[in-house]
Amino acid sequence: MQEFDATSLALPGIRELQPYQAGKPIEEVERELGISNIVKLASNENPLGVSHAVKQALAKKITELARYPDANGFYLKTALAEKFAIETNQITLGNGSNDVLELLARTYVTDQHEVIFSQHAFMVYPLVTKAIGAKPVAVPAKDYGHDLDAMLAAITDKTRMIFVANPNNPTGTFLTTEALQAFIAKVPKNILVVLDEAYYEYVPSDVRAPSFSWISEHSNLIVTRTFSKAYGLAGLRAGFAVSNAKVADLMNRIRQPFNMNELALTAAMAALGDEEFLEHSIQVNAEGMAQVTAFCDARGLSYIPSHGNFITIRFGSEAAAINQKLLQKGVIVRPVAGYELPEHLRVSIGLPEEMDAFYRAYDEIIAEQSGG
Ligand SMILES: *Cc1c(COP(=O)(O)O)cnc(C)c1O
Repeated sequence: MQEFDATSLALPGIRELQPYQAGKPIEEVERELGISNIVKLASNENPLGVSHAVKQALAKKITELARYPDANGFYLKTALAEKFAIETNQITLGNGSNDVLELLARTYVTDQHEVIFSQHAFMVYPLVTKAIGAKPVAVPAKDYGHDLDAMLAAITDKTRMIFVANPNNPTGTFLTTEALQAFIAKVPKNILVVLDEAYYEYVPSDVRAPSFSWISEHSNLIVTRTFSKAYGLAGLRAGFAVSNAKVADLMNRIRQPFNMNELALTAAMAALGDEEFLEHSIQVNAEGMAQVTAFCDARGLSYIPSHGNFITIRFGSEAAAINQKLLQKGVIVRPVAGYELPEHLRVSIGLPEEMDAFYRAYDEIIAEQSGG
C-alpha cells in the first residue's frame, strides 16, 4: 500500500524539532487530576489579568470583527512611535513577539548559517533556527546568564544572527547597559543582534537599557518587545520588533498581512495608554518577588536572582517529584529540565493569595516527606 511518507519527506530541520512545551493550562490540570481552585504560576502571565481600559476597548470592537484588521496597524504603530520616540517605519508587528523572532530568522538566516544564543535561553531561538535548517550554537552560560565574551568568541564566518534575552527567560538573569553596549559594538555588522526584551517593563527604569536609541548607530540591532507579560495580553498575541527601517521593510514583506488581529491591535493600543495598570503590575511583581525570595531564604532554597516576573528556584534532585506534588495540590509551576536546569522549577510571580497557595503547598510537601 502506498502512503504519503510524512516524516521522511518533511524538511530535515523540522523533522528533528521537539514541540515547544508550554505551561500546563488550568483546564488541563482540572481535567486530568479532577481538582479545582488551581493556581497557575507557569507561564509568566500578568496575574492582574486584563486591565479595565483594555476590556472596554475590546467590548467596543466586538461588533466590528467581520472586517479584516488594518494590515499595517497604523494606529498601534503611531502610538508606539510616539511613546518610544521611534519612527513607524522601524516597527514590525507580530502575532506575539515569537512571531517576529521567526520572521527575523526567515528573512536573514539560511541552512548555511549559524545562529548563536546562550545555554538556558528561550527555547524559541533554537526552534526557529532548526526549522530553517541552520546550525544552532548554544554557548555555555556563566552564572546561569549570558556569557557575552564567550558568545563573541563563538562567532564564525557562518554566523548570521545572535539572540540575546534581557532579562533572560527562564533564568531571570540581566545584562547591564554597559555590558550590552560593549557587546553590540563588537559584533561584526553582517551579523544581526536580536535583543529580546520581553521582560523590559519589570526592570527598574533607572537600569533599563536605552536599546531603541542604539539602532541608529547599530543598523544590525533589532529589539523585540511584547504585550504578553507586563501589559497582560498573553492570550491575544501581540508583540513587535524595532529595527532599522530597511530591516522592518523586509520583515514586513514576508509576514502574513494580518498577523496581528483586530482584537490584539485594539487591546495593545489600549494597554499602551494605561500607564496606571502597567505601574500597578510592576508594583505587584516587585512585592511578590521580595516575598518569594524571603520565603526561599527562610527555607534554605537557593534561587537565581531574577529581573523578570518569575523566579527559578533550585529544588535539587527532587525537583521533578516536587513539581508533580505541587500539581496534585493544584499549583502549576514550570519544569525547566528542557532548558538544562533539571534541578530547578520556574515559578511565575502571582497575586499574594496565589503565592500563598504555592508556599503552603511546598511546606505541606516537605512536612509529608519528613513525616514518612
Ligand atoms: C514570554 C517571552 C516572549 C514573549 O512571547 P510572546 O510571543 O510575545 O507571547 C519572548 N521572549 C521571551 C524570552 C519570553 O520569555
